[in-house]
Amino acid sequence: MQVLFGGTFDPVHDGHVMMVESLMRAFPNATVHVIPNHQPPHRASMASSEHRLAMLKAAMDGMSQAVVNAIELDRSGPSYTVDTLRAFREQFGTEESLVFCLGADAARAVDQWCRPELLAELSHLCILNRADQRVEIPQSLSAYRWTDELCEMREIRCGLLAFLDTPNVPVSSTGVRELIAKDESRLPVPPKIADYIRQHRLYQDA
Ligand code: ATP
Repeated sequence: MQVLFGGTFDPVHDGHVMMVESLMRAFPNATVHVIPNHQPPHRASMASSEHRLAMLKAAMDGMSQAVVNAIELDRSGPSYTVDTLRAFREQFGTEESLVFCLGADAARAVDQWCRPELLAELSHLCILNRADQRVEIPQSLSAYRWTDELCEMREIRCGLLAFLDTPNVPVSSTGVRELIAKDESRLPVPPKIADYIRQHRLYQDA
């Protein structure tokens, strides 16, 4: 079973770490692929792919089930989830159970993705809810069959949708960048990441 969790991770923060920990608990024995997405270079005040990747690797260090997967950084151009899932199907085969995971905020925007109606043929979908937030399931995800048994996802290869309740960690990368620009010393990121940000003077003029 392969679990995919994508994001910009600019930078990775305590909320992301909590999500990966929740996924490792929810899907024991699965590999959790943490996948930084491709971003156009030279965005104002943002970190390069190399820095985002290095921070993610440092944050995931010691998490036995998690691997940082650079598949989207290795491709040029935008990162479409449907392409990433096709690449996973090629690598792991048609029978492997794939679970694509995303936060409630990201799930609300799924209608704007490339070919979201194809996702159910490629993978399951797990939406992580912060505390008691519930997402309306977007129309483009209607091909999924709802389940409240995450373990059912192990039995079949794709097409199920479930929610996973997670603790509320009110942090965003935007918030972290704003704190750095205000010269705040306490950041809601793992200590290794705070050191890395300071050492490389990232996000100074966010
Ligand atoms: P930004 O503020 O730059 O938009 P972000 O903090 O939302 O960034 P992303 O890298 O865009 O981080 O998010 C990756 C995934 O993590 C998304 O699915 C998003 O919904 C989820 N996520 C981000 N922050 C949290 C959090 N504090 N708690 C739970 N999920 C989160």
